[in-house]
Amino acid sequence: GDDIYKALLKEAEAHGVADDVQIVKTGCFGFCEKGPIVKVLPEQAFYVEVVPEDAKEIISETIVKGRIVERIQYQPEKGAKGEAFDIENIEFYQKQYRIVLRNCGLINPENIDEYIARDGYSALEKCLFEMKPDDIIEELKKSGLRGRGGAGFPTWMKWNFTKQVDGGQKYVVCNADEGDPGAYMDRSTLEGDPHSVLEAMIIAGICVGADYGAIYIRAEYPLAIERLETAMKQAREYGLLGNDILGSGFNFDIELRLGAGAFVCGEETALLASIEGKRGMPIPKPPFPAVKGLFRKPTVINNVETFANIPIIITKGGDWFAQIGTEKSKGTKVFALTGKIKNSGLVEVPMGTTLREIVFDIGGGIRGGKKFKAVQTGGPSGGVITEEFLDTPIDFDNLVSIGSMMGSGGMIVMDEDDCIVDVTKFYLEFCVEESCGKCAPCRIGTKKLYEYLDRFTKGKGQIEDIQKMKDIGNAMKKASLCGLGQTAANPVLSTLRYFPEEYRQHIEDGK
Ligand code: SF4
Repeated sequence: GDDIYKALLKEAEAHGVADDVQIVKTGCFGFCEKGPIVKVLPEQAFYVEVVPEDAKEIISETIVKGRIVERIQYQPEKGAKGEAFDIENIEFYQKQYRIVLRNCGLINPENIDEYIARDGYSALEKCLFEMKPDDIIEELKKSGLRGRGGAGFPTWMKWNFTKQVDGGQKYVVCNADEGDPGAYMDRSTLEGDPHSVLEAMIIAGICVGADYGAIYIRAEYPLAIERLETAMKQAREYGLLGNDILGSGFNFDIELRLGAGAFVCGEETALLASIEGKRGMPIPKPPFPAVKGLFRKPTVINNVETFANIPIIITKGGDWFAQIGTEKSKGTKVFALTGKIKNSGLVEVPMGTTLREIVFDIGGGIRGGKKFKAVQTGGPSGGVITEEFLDTPIDFDNLVSIGSMMGSGGMIVMDEDDCIVDVTKFYLEFCVEESCGKCAPCRIGTKKLYEYLDRFTKGKGQIEDIQKMKDIGNAMKKASLCGLGQTAANPVLSTLRYFPEEYRQHIEDGK
């Protein structure tokens, strides 16, 4: 992307149009399969799989002469093409509804003015001068927003617990420690629209009475870190962050804390310990962080996607948000769609969209004409969803009822060639590696499950092992201390439920 950007600047200069055209870096368009993408407005050019050598033609044809370069223009399978082509015709976007990703790919995330031009920081202004903390809680309650980090806990309730604690130091923490294999929703949101998260954290501060926030982000996300740092600097310069925000007398500042790559630090108590400079290990709950969190002070902790929903809920109202989605899961969900899918990418759909729509309408179906086998949602904490459930409307509760979970939004599609036992072994290997070892059910259970799976993939599994794996998995669910151990057996239990014949096949084949 950087090379294309530089090449476009150079060609614009060479063609004498550098002053007539703005060449802007944006965040992710979501359509990763076709990247890098260059969009030209107002010509409605949507150039895909662009390389730096295309820059000359883009400038000389589209910028200078207003013509579309057909060679690199995206060609929708259905609908209008060529000059009459409209971006709305791209099937990939047709069933999407962008709330969290509303600005991604549209604004330059390194320019606060572009965020402000799209109503940015107007929710903050409203919260500072027009609303009381109780009004903010009321709006969140009406919206029905539930935490997008995986557990789906009502956001208003979390905020209210912290708000109700009388006085004293309080904190707001953003969990950007996205660690699921195949998941990159939070990274893209922060890279494409960092101010939306900053704005929401300040609003949380106003609501609960906190004056300090921390974003705990993976050190492996250098661009997201860079853009957050730029955004915080600009927000301070505009009087939107720091002391006496917009002359209101309210103080709130944010700092970044970089995670060192431990998956367990996505668990909120481990994350808080890590910010405090301790080893990232979970502690039993209650007390919950909302009451005793960072440095044992009341702390609101939400993930990136949850925060990114807040400004628009405040601006448009909780009732507006509550119209989108299902009865118990409101709004949208961002998924990172990967695996054996034609259109891999970042998608945002209303809750209640079916998996069939995501995989076949948005994702374009399975690559190479192969047969769909299953989708893993929720990463190592989730389970497989098979063909018979493709028409299930996706929301927090439906996914749990079919043995999987929403998780943070990773969605890995498998085809007929994938061995389900191999995939399960991959997830367990990940959990063995990432278990912090504090409690025995998880420390020993993940290891034992991995050993059984390893034996199956080598043709040495035995039929009685299946029951043993189920027993271990169920014990881990009940007895592990934190979410990692409580859910680590999900891939095993769900594949044993839906694909028992594949385990037996390994025994029969002896390999
Ligand atoms: Fe650590 Fe696993 Fe126990 Fe969580 S469940 S505390 S990750 S050993």
